[in-house]
Amino acid sequence: MKILFATSEAYPLIKTGGLGDVAESLPRALSAHGLDARIVLPAYRRVLEQLTEPRILGWLDIATAAGPQVVRVLEASHPAFSASLFLIDAPALFDRDGGPYQHPDGYDWPDNAERFTVFSRAVAQLADDRLGIGWRADLVHANDWQTGLVPAYLSQLERPPRSVFTIHNIAYDCQFDMATFSHLQMPHSWWSMHLGEFYGRFSMLKAGLVFSDVVTTVSPTYAEEICTPAYGYGYAAVLQTNCDKLHGILNGIDAETWNPRTDPLLVAHYQRKSPIRPAKKKNRKALLQTMGAGKTAIDASVPLLGFIGRLVDQKGVDLLADTIPVVFENHDVQFVIIGTGHTHLEQRLSLLAQHYPDRLFLHLGYDEPLAHLLEAGSDMFVMPSRYEPCGLNQMYSMHYGTPPIVHTTGGLADTVVDASAENLRNGSATGFVFEYPEVQDLSTAISRALALHADPKAWMALMKTGMKQDFSWERSASEYIRLYRAPDSAADGNAADGNNA
Ligand code: ADP
Repeated sequence: MKILFATSEAYPLIKTGGLGDVAESLPRALSAHGLDARIVLPAYRRVLEQLTEPRILGWLDIATAAGPQVVRVLEASHPAFSASLFLIDAPALFDRDGGPYQHPDGYDWPDNAERFTVFSRAVAQLADDRLGIGWRADLVHANDWQTGLVPAYLSQLERPPRSVFTIHNIAYDCQFDMATFSHLQMPHSWWSMHLGEFYGRFSMLKAGLVFSDVVTTVSPTYAEEICTPAYGYGYAAVLQTNCDKLHGILNGIDAETWNPRTDPLLVAHYQRKSPIRPAKKKNRKALLQTMGAGKTAIDASVPLLGFIGRLVDQKGVDLLADTIPVVFENHDVQFVIIGTGHTHLEQRLSLLAQHYPDRLFLHLGYDEPLAHLLEAGSDMFVMPSRYEPCGLNQMYSMHYGTPPIVHTTGGLADTVVDASAENLRNGSATGFVFEYPEVQDLSTAISRALALHADPKAWMALMKTGMKQDFSWERSASEYIRLYRAPDSAADGNAADGNNA
């Protein structure tokens, strides 16, 4: 079975969030199951700089806002990917400095709608083997709004391959007005409330939901949540209409990259069956040294709580900032925070770090090596997301023996088992779950965690239960393959049929 995995980011070439990780791991897991899974990415400048000798496969005629244009298709290989990559090379749209969606100064590229419309058009043609390379997709797996138009353009083909559309975060959708819609030369019929029109604008995400054969999202609980007004960002009604084709499949993690036994970014390795504490202590020291902590802070043997993530409202960063002083007032602990994002949240955390110079250590920026060190060097990981489609860090944390403290939402609810008395007794507990994203609830959860941490035996049992959890892509890939193969999967859809942890 030939799968074309259409994505706007793929780690390690280009990544802004969880989609980048999924794009690396899922196609590899599909290949391991014997599927011919290829990735197609825009040929961003930063991606081309990392590839040696991409091969020209051919040229496609694409209608763009500036009239018909020829877009080049490249093929390249990279050690991180099991199969070769396809790249859509449209230099006017992708050959620029900055991120995949943003200018180096942090604002969205004003032509994002056009960039990803052209990309989606080219992906549909590539899937249909318009290049004549002898590779025609049986199924196209599109991801998030950037490829929402892929199922739409596929629907125009004479023999369209099946399409799966995955929502990684429904809050990001790319909407534009009628003038842009006309400028992008989309078929007029698509401006319909039954297709891509969305409250007087056009939504690329809605196009993906409506035109695809199967819709998935990245955890069973999030699949249920997005069908409600509170979490649906306006799409609850559309999703309810399409609920027969909506499925929740939990993301896996790359258990090779995120393995404390072999992780080259750690200063000391460990595993469930070896002494964990001495190695974690060394990683803690290296982490605090890198963060610029003074000797007293490095030597203090107090619990260390970590946070990594985009500094945006979704991640509950404001809640964390409100809670830290409360925790400091009641407990002798330290915090390490790594993140980048909205200026007001960065400023808020900077002020806090200035206020607690020996207790709160902040790194504003994206730093993969430091993230690994934080997972290994912290004692607990705080993830107070207001909503979380799946979340990866709570799973990394469990594998690194760093029990997570999470709000019960989306993938956090599906992966973390609360350390209630009963769950501790029956050995299923892996972390701490709190119900409401409020200071009181979060600080109580942290206090519960610190109380258990004071009992070394109970804490070790909690760490070890987390470390043995199976979050491999293996299981999730099997779920996807079931959907890829089932022509009638639309008929047996179930918002919560994923592999619950
Ligand atoms: P989202 O996709 O919403 O950002 P996820 O938890 O699914 O959240 O994935 C985020 C990924 O990005 C994780 O691998 C996390 O470690 C990584 N990450 C986020 N911010 C940073 C940062 N500042 N430095 C290093 N890694 C980061």
